[in-house]
Amino acid sequence: MPLRIAIDGPAGVGKSTLAARLATAFGLPKLDTGAIYRTLALAAERAGVSWDDGPALAELAAHLPIRFAGGTGRAGTTVLLGNEDVSAAIRTPEMSRGSSLVSRHAPVRAALLPLQRALAAGGAVAEGRDIGTVVLPDAEVKIFLVASPRERARRRRLELREKGLERALEDVLAEQDARDERDSTREASPLRAAADAITIDTDGLTLEEVVQRVLALVAERTGLRPR
Ligand code: C5P
Repeated sequence: MPLRIAIDGPAGVGKSTLAARLATAFGLPKLDTGAIYRTLALAAERAGVSWDDGPALAELAAHLPIRFAGGTGRAGTTVLLGNEDVSAAIRTPEMSRGSSLVSRHAPVRAALLPLQRALAAGGAVAEGRDIGTVVLPDAEVKIFLVASPRERARRRRLELREKGLERALEDVLAEQDARDERDSTREASPLRAAADAITIDTDGLTLEEVVQRVLALVAERTGLRPR
């Protein structure tokens, strides 16, 4: 039975960093489902399709030429749209907003479901908003990460700074609040902890402490240990 670890939670809570650590520990691919919605937002913008047009977006999603490259468990997985590396282009504040607008539409989510499940079929550490509830409801281990909005915005601002984007904390916080509100209140697969997910509040915990907690949980649930 392949191991599937689902990691869900709001923006900037550290899902990607945790997923990368776990993927490396277990030699599994890391599946960043947010990158798929971000790439769709970018493809829509380029094709002149509005982020409000659900049916046209779903059509685009059904044929989205997205691929992940960069190997198992690597933190910096490359995202390709056709043959173009869009890894940086999808990480802008504009595409953060675009992704949360395109992801509201139920037909878009339905169109992207088979792709996500196929990518996780052989085992994966998958992160997003609806992994434990919709994408992989039978994942062996489900984690729901939470942290205070201000702490998350502070981390996100540091991430943006590393990429040369200087933003005021209040702006990052406001955009993050708007995105969390949209992601949690939409009708289609809202951000929510699965009934059988373990919630970890990462405020005041180091990454290492969070990793150790999840490794203990995986061992307890499946008997598997990092290789
Ligand atoms: O995780 P990330 O911040 O890159 O996700 C970008 C956006 O994609 C989220 O704000 C959310 O609207 C959407 N998303 C989603 N379901 C997922 C992953 C991401 O709706 N499983």
